[in-house]
Amino acid sequence: MNNEIPSSVQVMNAVEKQRALAEKLFDTLVELSRDPEGGVTRAPYSPEETGIHKRFGEIAEELGLKVTTDAMANTYMTLQGSDPAAKKIMTGSHLDSVKQGGNFDGAAGVVAGLVACAALKELGIRPHCDVSVMGVRAEESAWFGVSYIGSRGALGTLPDGALNVKRVDSGLTLVDGIRNEGGDSDAAAARKKTFEPSELRCFLELHIEQGPLLDRDGLPVGICTAIPGNFRFPNARVIGEYGHVGLLKAWRRDAVTAASEFVVAMDELWAQSEADGKPMACTIGVFSTDPELHAMTKVPGELNFTLDVRCYNSEHLKELEEKTYEIIRAIEERRKVRFEIGKTARAAVGEMSPTISSDFERIANELKIPNCRLGSPASHDSAAFAEAGVPTAMIFVRNANGSHNPDEAMTIDDFLQATAIMTKWIADASQQTI
Ligand SMILES: [Zn+2]
Repeated sequence: MNNEIPSSVQVMNAVEKQRALAEKLFDTLVELSRDPEGGVTRAPYSPEETGIHKRFGEIAEELGLKVTTDAMANTYMTLQGSDPAAKKIMTGSHLDSVKQGGNFDGAAGVVAGLVACAALKELGIRPHCDVSVMGVRAEESAWFGVSYIGSRGALGTLPDGALNVKRVDSGLTLVDGIRNEGGDSDAAAARKKTFEPSELRCFLELHIEQGPLLDRDGLPVGICTAIPGNFRFPNARVIGEYGHVGLLKAWRRDAVTAASEFVVAMDELWAQSEADGKPMACTIGVFSTDPELHAMTKVPGELNFTLDVRCYNSEHLKELEEKTYEIIRAIEERRKVRFEIGKTARAAVGEMSPTISSDFERIANELKIPNCRLGSPASHDSAAFAEAGVPTAMIFVRNANGSHNPDEAMTIDDFLQATAIMTKWIADASQQTI
Protein backbone atom coordinates (compact mmCIF):
# COMPACT_ATOMS: atom_id res chain seq x y z
CA MET A 1 0.00 0.00 0.00
CA ASN A 2 1.15 3.46 -0.88
CA ASN A 3 0.68 5.82 2.00
CA GLU A 4 2.21 8.79 0.25
CA ILE A 5 -0.38 11.51 -0.15
CA PRO A 6 -1.14 11.84 -3.88
CA SER A 7 -1.16 15.24 -5.55
CA SER A 8 -4.41 16.86 -6.68
CA VAL A 9 -3.56 16.02 -10.27
CA GLN A 10 -2.87 12.34 -9.44
CA VAL A 11 -6.27 12.19 -7.69
CA MET A 12 -7.96 13.87 -10.65
CA ASN A 13 -6.43 11.28 -12.98
CA ALA A 14 -7.52 8.40 -10.72
CA VAL A 15 -11.07 9.81 -10.60
CA GLU A 16 -11.09 10.24 -14.38
CA LYS A 17 -10.28 6.52 -14.69
CA GLN A 18 -13.61 5.78 -12.92
CA ARG A 19 -15.64 7.41 -15.72
CA ALA A 20 -17.01 4.03 -16.86
CA LEU A 21 -18.01 3.16 -13.28
CA ALA A 22 -19.85 6.47 -12.91
CA GLU A 23 -21.67 5.95 -16.20
CA LYS A 24 -22.60 2.40 -15.22
CA LEU A 25 -24.02 3.57 -11.88
CA PHE A 26 -26.06 6.36 -13.49
CA ASP A 27 -27.36 3.93 -16.15
CA THR A 28 -28.28 1.42 -13.41
CA LEU A 29 -30.31 4.09 -11.66
CA VAL A 30 -32.33 4.83 -14.79
CA GLU A 31 -32.89 1.14 -15.54
CA LEU A 32 -34.23 0.47 -12.05
CA SER A 33 -36.46 3.51 -11.71
CA ARG A 34 -37.60 4.66 -15.16
CA ASP A 35 -41.16 6.02 -14.94
CA PRO A 36 -43.33 5.12 -17.96
CA GLU A 37 -44.85 8.59 -17.74
CA GLY A 38 -41.45 10.33 -17.90
CA GLY A 39 -38.27 10.73 -15.88
CA VAL A 40 -37.52 8.47 -12.93
CA THR A 41 -39.57 7.75 -9.83
CA ARG A 42 -37.85 6.39 -6.74
CA ALA A 43 -40.38 6.79 -3.98
CA PRO A 44 -39.01 6.53 -0.43
CA TYR A 45 -39.48 3.09 1.12
CA SER A 46 -40.67 1.62 -2.17
CA PRO A 47 -39.45 -1.55 -3.89
CA GLU A 48 -37.77 0.68 -6.54
CA GLU A 49 -35.74 2.52 -3.91
CA THR A 50 -34.84 -0.76 -2.23
CA GLY A 51 -33.80 -2.27 -5.57
CA ILE A 52 -31.35 0.57 -6.09
CA HIS A 53 -29.91 0.23 -2.58
CA LYS A 54 -29.39 -3.49 -3.19
CA ARG A 55 -27.81 -3.05 -6.63
CA PHE A 56 -25.51 -0.28 -5.42
CA GLY A 57 -24.55 -2.54 -2.49
CA GLU A 58 -23.63 -5.33 -4.91
CA ILE A 59 -21.53 -3.00 -7.04
CA ALA A 60 -19.85 -1.64 -3.88
CA GLU A 61 -18.98 -5.21 -2.82
CA GLU A 62 -17.43 -5.81 -6.23
CA LEU A 63 -15.30 -2.71 -5.55
CA GLY A 64 -14.13 -4.30 -2.29
CA LEU A 65 -16.26 -2.19 0.05
CA LYS A 66 -18.04 -3.53 3.12
CA VAL A 67 -21.81 -3.12 2.87
CA THR A 68 -24.15 -2.73 5.85
CA THR A 69 -27.64 -1.34 6.48
CA ASP A 70 -29.29 0.20 9.53
CA ALA A 71 -32.70 0.36 11.21
CA MET A 72 -33.88 3.01 8.71
CA ALA A 73 -32.72 0.73 5.83
CA ASN A 74 -30.03 3.23 4.85
CA THR A 75 -27.07 1.57 3.10
CA TYR A 76 -23.41 2.11 4.07
CA MET A 77 -20.67 1.13 1.63
CA THR A 78 -17.36 1.39 3.45
CA LEU A 79 -13.72 1.42 2.41
CA GLN A 80 -12.34 0.10 5.67
CA GLY A 81 -9.54 1.97 7.38
CA SER A 82 -6.65 0.50 9.34
CA ASP A 83 -8.10 1.86 12.60
CA PRO A 84 -11.79 0.95 12.94
CA ALA A 85 -12.06 3.17 16.04
CA ALA A 86 -10.90 6.31 14.20
CA LYS A 87 -13.55 8.91 13.39
CA LYS A 88 -15.11 8.01 10.07
CA ILE A 89 -15.24 10.14 6.96
CA MET A 90 -18.80 9.86 5.72
CA THR A 91 -20.06 10.96 2.35
CA GLY A 92 -23.22 10.29 0.38
CA SER A 93 -26.68 11.57 -0.41
CA HIS A 94 -30.19 10.28 -1.01
CA LEU A 95 -31.28 7.64 -3.50
CA ASP A 96 -34.99 8.54 -3.57
CA SER A 97 -36.48 11.05 -6.01
CA VAL A 98 -39.65 13.02 -6.47
CA LYS A 99 -42.30 11.57 -8.77
CA GLN A 100 -41.08 11.76 -12.37
CA GLY A 101 -37.90 13.46 -11.25
CA GLY A 102 -34.43 13.51 -12.77
CA ASN A 103 -31.71 10.92 -12.43
CA PHE A 104 -29.10 13.04 -10.65
CA ASP A 105 -30.79 14.77 -7.70
CA GLY A 106 -29.42 12.91 -4.71
CA ALA A 107 -28.05 9.86 -6.47
CA ALA A 108 -25.06 11.80 -7.88
CA GLY A 109 -23.77 12.15 -4.32
CA VAL A 110 -23.82 8.38 -3.78
CA VAL A 111 -22.17 7.74 -7.16
CA ALA A 112 -19.51 10.33 -6.24
CA GLY A 113 -18.78 8.51 -2.97
CA LEU A 114 -18.36 5.18 -4.76
CA VAL A 115 -16.18 6.77 -7.45
CA ALA A 116 -14.06 8.39 -4.70
CA CYS A 117 -13.55 5.01 -2.97
CA ALA A 118 -12.66 3.34 -6.29
CA ALA A 119 -10.15 6.15 -7.01
CA LEU A 120 -8.57 5.79 -3.55
CA LYS A 121 -8.11 2.10 -4.26
CA GLU A 122 -6.69 2.92 -7.68
CA LEU A 123 -4.16 5.17 -5.95
CA GLY A 124 -3.23 2.36 -3.56
CA ILE A 125 -4.38 4.31 -0.53
CA ARG A 126 -5.27 2.35 2.59
CA PRO A 127 -7.08 4.94 4.67
CA HIS A 128 -6.39 5.27 8.36
CA CYS A 129 -10.10 5.77 9.10
CA ASP A 130 -13.16 4.22 7.48
CA VAL A 131 -14.49 6.07 4.45
CA SER A 132 -18.18 5.33 4.34
CA VAL A 133 -20.59 6.09 1.50
CA MET A 134 -24.14 6.46 2.79
CA GLY A 135 -27.07 5.76 0.50
CA VAL A 136 -29.71 7.74 2.35
CA ARG A 137 -33.39 6.81 2.36
CA ALA A 138 -36.32 9.14 2.00
CA GLU A 139 -34.88 12.63 1.73
CA GLU A 140 -37.57 14.02 -0.55
CA SER A 141 -40.24 15.44 1.72
CA ALA A 142 -42.87 15.57 -1.05
CA TRP A 143 -43.87 12.01 -0.16
CA PHE A 144 -44.22 11.93 3.62
CA GLY A 145 -44.13 15.67 4.43
CA VAL A 146 -41.09 15.13 6.69
CA SER A 147 -37.57 16.14 5.67
CA TYR A 148 -34.34 14.12 5.98
CA ILE A 149 -36.06 10.92 7.18
CA GLY A 150 -33.17 8.53 6.52
CA SER A 151 -30.40 10.78 7.78
CA ARG A 152 -32.29 12.06 10.82
CA GLY A 153 -33.36 8.50 11.61
CA ALA A 154 -29.70 7.41 11.59
CA LEU A 155 -28.78 10.36 13.82
CA GLY A 156 -31.72 9.70 16.19
CA THR A 157 -33.16 13.17 15.55
CA LEU A 158 -36.46 12.45 13.79
CA PRO A 159 -39.24 14.62 15.21
CA ASP A 160 -41.92 13.14 17.48
CA GLY A 161 -44.63 11.30 15.60
CA ALA A 162 -42.62 11.17 12.36
CA LEU A 163 -42.97 7.41 12.01
CA ASN A 164 -46.75 7.63 12.01
CA VAL A 165 -47.00 10.04 9.09
CA LYS A 166 -48.62 8.73 5.94
CA ARG A 167 -47.41 8.91 2.38
CA VAL A 168 -49.52 11.62 0.77
CA ASP A 169 -50.52 9.54 -2.24
CA SER A 170 -50.84 5.97 -0.96
CA GLY A 171 -51.52 6.43 2.76
CA LEU A 172 -48.68 4.04 3.64
CA THR A 173 -47.36 4.88 7.10
CA LEU A 174 -43.66 5.53 7.39
CA VAL A 175 -43.28 2.80 9.99
CA ASP A 176 -44.83 0.24 7.63
CA GLY A 177 -42.65 1.47 4.78
CA ILE A 178 -39.51 1.01 6.86
CA ARG A 179 -40.62 -2.50 7.86
CA ASN A 180 -41.61 -3.50 4.31
CA GLU A 181 -38.28 -2.41 2.85
CA GLY A 182 -35.95 -4.20 5.23
CA GLY A 183 -35.58 -1.73 8.09
CA ASP A 184 -36.12 -2.37 11.78
CA SER A 185 -39.22 -0.35 12.59
CA ASP A 186 -39.06 -1.09 16.34
CA ALA A 187 -35.50 0.19 16.55
CA ALA A 188 -36.47 3.18 14.40
CA ALA A 189 -39.45 3.90 16.66
CA ALA A 190 -37.13 3.73 19.69
CA ARG A 191 -34.90 6.32 17.95
CA LYS A 192 -31.94 3.94 17.92
CA LYS A 193 -28.99 5.83 16.49
CA THR A 194 -26.86 4.16 13.84
CA PHE A 195 -23.87 6.17 15.03
CA GLU A 196 -23.08 9.00 17.40
CA PRO A 197 -22.27 12.28 15.65
CA SER A 198 -18.97 12.22 17.56
CA GLU A 199 -17.99 9.04 15.66
CA LEU A 200 -17.94 11.00 12.41
CA ARG A 201 -15.09 13.21 11.34
CA CYS A 202 -17.29 14.84 8.72
CA PHE A 203 -20.18 14.44 6.31
CA LEU A 204 -19.52 15.43 2.68
CA GLU A 205 -22.26 15.65 0.08
CA LEU A 206 -21.99 16.26 -3.66
CA HIS A 207 -25.28 17.36 -5.24
CA ILE A 208 -26.42 18.91 -8.49
CA GLU A 209 -27.18 22.59 -8.22
CA GLN A 210 -30.93 23.13 -8.20
CA GLY A 211 -30.75 26.74 -9.33
CA PRO A 212 -29.39 28.22 -12.57
CA LEU A 213 -26.38 30.17 -11.26
CA LEU A 214 -23.46 27.83 -12.07
CA ASP A 215 -24.78 27.31 -15.58
CA ARG A 216 -25.34 31.03 -16.07
CA ASP A 217 -21.84 31.87 -14.84
CA GLY A 218 -20.08 29.07 -16.72
CA LEU A 219 -18.77 27.39 -13.55
CA PRO A 220 -18.75 23.60 -13.21
CA VAL A 221 -18.60 23.64 -9.40
CA GLY A 222 -20.00 25.60 -6.46
CA ILE A 223 -18.96 25.25 -2.83
CA CYS A 224 -21.89 25.52 -0.47
CA THR A 225 -22.01 28.34 2.09
CA ALA A 226 -25.16 27.21 3.96
CA ILE A 227 -28.32 25.15 3.62
CA PRO A 228 -31.52 26.98 4.38
CA GLY A 229 -33.58 26.02 7.38
CA ASN A 230 -37.31 25.95 6.97
CA PHE A 231 -40.69 25.76 8.61
CA ARG A 232 -43.50 24.13 6.74
CA PHE A 233 -47.22 23.59 6.97
CA PRO A 234 -47.62 20.29 5.08
CA ASN A 235 -51.34 20.13 5.63
CA ALA A 236 -52.98 23.45 6.45
CA ARG A 237 -56.59 24.56 6.02
CA VAL A 238 -58.58 27.74 6.12
CA ILE A 239 -62.02 27.07 7.54
CA GLY A 240 -64.80 29.50 6.72
CA GLU A 241 -68.41 28.73 5.98
CA TYR A 242 -70.10 27.58 2.79
CA GLY A 243 -72.92 29.90 1.73
CA HIS A 244 -75.06 31.05 -1.13
CA VAL A 245 -73.43 33.35 -3.70
CA GLY A 246 -76.00 35.99 -2.89
CA LEU A 247 -74.79 36.23 0.71
CA LEU A 248 -73.94 39.79 1.68
CA LYS A 249 -70.27 40.60 2.14
CA ALA A 250 -70.52 41.33 5.85
CA TRP A 251 -71.96 37.87 6.52
CA ARG A 252 -69.41 35.94 4.49
CA ARG A 253 -66.70 33.72 5.94
CA ASP A 254 -64.97 33.14 2.62
CA ALA A 255 -62.02 30.72 2.82
CA VAL A 256 -60.63 31.56 -0.63
CA THR A 257 -60.55 35.32 -0.06
CA ALA A 258 -58.92 34.84 3.34
CA ALA A 259 -56.34 32.42 1.97
CA SER A 260 -55.61 34.76 -0.95
CA GLU A 261 -54.98 37.58 1.49
CA PHE A 262 -52.53 35.26 3.25
CA VAL A 263 -50.68 34.54 -0.01
CA VAL A 264 -50.30 38.24 -0.78
CA ALA A 265 -49.18 39.05 2.78
CA MET A 266 -46.53 36.29 2.68
CA ASP A 267 -45.30 37.57 -0.68
CA GLU A 268 -45.00 41.06 0.80
CA LEU A 269 -43.11 39.63 3.78
CA TRP A 270 -40.68 38.04 1.31
CA ALA A 271 -40.21 41.30 -0.63
CA GLN A 272 -39.55 43.20 2.61
CA SER A 273 -37.08 40.57 3.76
CA GLU A 274 -35.12 40.78 0.49
CA ALA A 275 -35.19 44.59 0.68
CA ASP A 276 -33.63 44.26 4.16
CA GLY A 277 -30.83 42.14 2.66
CA LYS A 278 -32.11 38.89 4.17
CA PRO A 279 -32.59 36.25 1.46
CA MET A 280 -35.46 33.82 1.91
CA ALA A 281 -38.06 31.97 -0.14
CA CYS A 282 -41.73 31.35 0.44
CA THR A 283 -43.83 28.84 -1.51
CA ILE A 284 -47.48 27.93 -1.31
CA GLY A 285 -47.41 24.80 -3.45
CA VAL A 286 -50.89 23.47 -2.77
CA PHE A 287 -53.92 25.77 -2.82
CA SER A 288 -57.21 24.05 -3.44
CA THR A 289 -60.89 23.99 -2.56
CA ASP A 290 -62.62 20.67 -2.01
CA PRO A 291 -63.85 19.34 -5.39
CA GLU A 292 -66.61 17.40 -3.59
CA LEU A 293 -68.06 20.54 -2.08
CA HIS A 294 -66.96 23.56 -4.12
CA ALA A 295 -69.18 25.06 -6.80
CA MET A 296 -69.42 28.20 -8.90
CA THR A 297 -72.46 29.31 -6.96
CA LYS A 298 -71.20 28.66 -3.43
CA VAL A 299 -69.14 30.85 -1.12
CA PRO A 300 -66.11 28.60 -0.45
CA GLY A 301 -66.11 27.32 3.12
CA GLU A 302 -62.75 25.59 3.14
CA LEU A 303 -59.37 25.74 1.42
CA ASN A 304 -56.36 23.44 1.75
CA PHE A 305 -52.87 24.80 1.38
CA THR A 306 -49.22 24.08 2.10
CA LEU A 307 -46.48 26.51 3.06
CA ASP A 308 -42.69 26.29 2.86
CA VAL A 309 -40.65 29.20 4.20
CA ARG A 310 -36.86 28.96 4.12
CA CYS A 311 -33.85 31.15 4.86
CA TYR A 312 -30.15 30.97 5.79
CA ASN A 313 -30.14 32.33 9.32
CA SER A 314 -31.68 30.78 12.45
CA GLU A 315 -32.78 34.10 14.01
CA HIS A 316 -34.32 35.23 10.75
CA LEU A 317 -36.20 31.93 10.45
CA LYS A 318 -37.66 32.34 13.94
CA GLU A 319 -38.70 35.90 13.15
CA LEU A 320 -40.37 34.81 9.90
CA GLU A 321 -42.38 32.13 11.69
CA GLU A 322 -43.58 34.63 14.30
CA LYS A 323 -44.57 37.10 11.57
CA THR A 324 -46.46 34.34 9.73
CA TYR A 325 -48.56 33.69 12.84
CA GLU A 326 -49.21 37.44 13.22
CA ILE A 327 -50.44 37.57 9.61
CA ILE A 328 -52.71 34.58 10.25
CA ARG A 329 -54.18 36.07 13.43
CA ALA A 330 -54.95 39.37 11.67
CA ILE A 331 -56.69 37.61 8.76
CA GLU A 332 -58.71 35.37 11.10
CA GLU A 333 -59.95 38.46 12.89
CA ARG A 334 -60.74 40.43 9.75
CA ARG A 335 -62.25 37.63 7.69
CA LYS A 336 -63.99 35.62 10.44
CA VAL A 337 -62.25 32.41 9.38
CA ARG A 338 -60.03 29.94 11.21
CA PHE A 339 -56.60 28.72 10.07
CA GLU A 340 -55.94 25.11 11.01
CA ILE A 341 -52.26 24.87 10.25
CA GLY A 342 -51.88 21.25 11.35
CA LYS A 343 -48.51 19.93 12.39
CA THR A 344 -45.66 22.31 11.57
CA ALA A 345 -42.52 20.67 10.18
CA ARG A 346 -39.20 22.36 10.84
CA ALA A 347 -35.59 21.95 9.76
CA ALA A 348 -32.70 23.94 11.21
CA VAL A 349 -30.33 26.05 9.11
CA GLY A 350 -27.38 23.89 7.98
CA GLU A 351 -24.09 25.64 8.73
CA MET A 352 -21.19 24.40 6.58
CA SER A 353 -17.69 23.75 7.96
CA PRO A 354 -15.55 26.78 7.05
CA THR A 355 -12.39 24.65 7.17
CA ILE A 356 -13.55 21.91 4.80
CA SER A 357 -15.19 24.46 2.49
CA SER A 358 -11.90 26.43 2.26
CA ASP A 359 -10.04 23.18 1.58
CA PHE A 360 -12.48 22.40 -1.25
CA GLU A 361 -11.87 25.85 -2.69
CA ARG A 362 -8.06 25.44 -2.47
CA ILE A 363 -8.18 22.01 -4.14
CA ALA A 364 -10.49 23.30 -6.89
CA ASN A 365 -8.04 26.14 -7.54
CA GLU A 366 -5.08 23.72 -7.58
CA LEU A 367 -6.93 21.68 -10.20
CA LYS A 368 -7.87 24.89 -12.08
CA ILE A 369 -11.56 24.03 -11.78
CA PRO A 370 -13.53 27.30 -11.94
CA ASN A 371 -15.70 27.58 -8.82
CA CYS A 372 -17.61 29.92 -6.55
CA ARG A 373 -19.26 29.98 -3.15
CA LEU A 374 -22.98 29.40 -3.32
CA GLY A 375 -25.87 29.32 -0.84
CA SER A 376 -28.00 26.23 -1.38
CA PRO A 377 -31.47 27.06 -2.62
CA ALA A 378 -32.73 23.68 -1.45
CA SER A 379 -32.70 21.43 1.61
CA HIS A 380 -30.26 18.53 1.85
CA ASP A 381 -29.36 15.65 4.18
CA SER A 382 -26.20 17.61 4.99
CA ALA A 383 -28.36 19.94 7.08
CA ALA A 384 -29.32 17.05 9.38
CA PHE A 385 -25.64 16.21 9.93
CA ALA A 386 -24.72 19.86 10.46
CA GLU A 387 -27.54 20.24 12.99
CA ALA A 388 -26.21 17.20 14.86
CA GLY A 389 -22.82 18.91 15.15
CA VAL A 390 -20.97 16.95 12.46
CA PRO A 391 -18.55 19.12 10.40
CA THR A 392 -20.31 19.19 7.04
CA ALA A 393 -19.53 20.44 3.55
CA MET A 394 -21.24 20.32 0.17
CA ILE A 395 -20.15 20.65 -3.44
CA PHE A 396 -22.66 21.59 -6.11
CA VAL A 397 -22.32 20.51 -9.72
CA ARG A 398 -23.53 22.62 -12.65
CA ASN A 399 -26.93 21.53 -13.90
CA ALA A 400 -28.75 23.38 -16.64
CA ASN A 401 -32.42 22.73 -16.15
CA GLY A 402 -33.17 22.80 -12.44
CA SER A 403 -34.00 19.66 -10.51
CA HIS A 404 -37.04 17.55 -9.65
CA ASN A 405 -37.75 17.18 -13.36
CA PRO A 406 -36.62 14.74 -16.07
CA ASP A 407 -34.44 17.41 -17.76
CA GLU A 408 -31.74 17.62 -15.09
CA ALA A 409 -28.57 18.12 -17.14
CA MET A 410 -25.31 17.36 -15.38
CA THR A 411 -22.38 16.33 -17.58
CA ILE A 412 -20.08 13.50 -16.53
CA ASP A 413 -17.12 15.88 -17.07
CA ASP A 414 -18.47 18.32 -14.48
CA PHE A 415 -19.40 15.47 -12.17
CA LEU A 416 -15.88 14.01 -12.28
CA GLN A 417 -14.30 17.41 -11.61
CA ALA A 418 -16.45 17.95 -8.53
CA THR A 419 -15.82 14.38 -7.40
CA ALA A 420 -12.06 14.89 -7.79
CA ILE A 421 -12.17 17.84 -5.37
CA MET A 422 -13.99 15.76 -2.78
CA THR A 423 -11.76 12.74 -3.38
CA LYS A 424 -8.56 14.74 -2.90
CA TRP A 425 -9.91 16.04 0.42
CA ILE A 426 -10.75 12.47 1.49
CA ALA A 427 -7.34 11.20 0.32
CA ASP A 428 -5.60 13.79 2.51
CA ALA A 429 -7.88 13.51 5.54
CA SER A 430 -8.02 9.73 5.54
CA GLN A 431 -4.25 9.55 5.98
CA GLN A 432 -4.23 11.72 9.07
CA THR A 433 -4.36 10.16 12.50
CA ILE A 434 -6.53 12.51 14.51
ZN1 LIG B 1 -31.58 16.11 -3.39
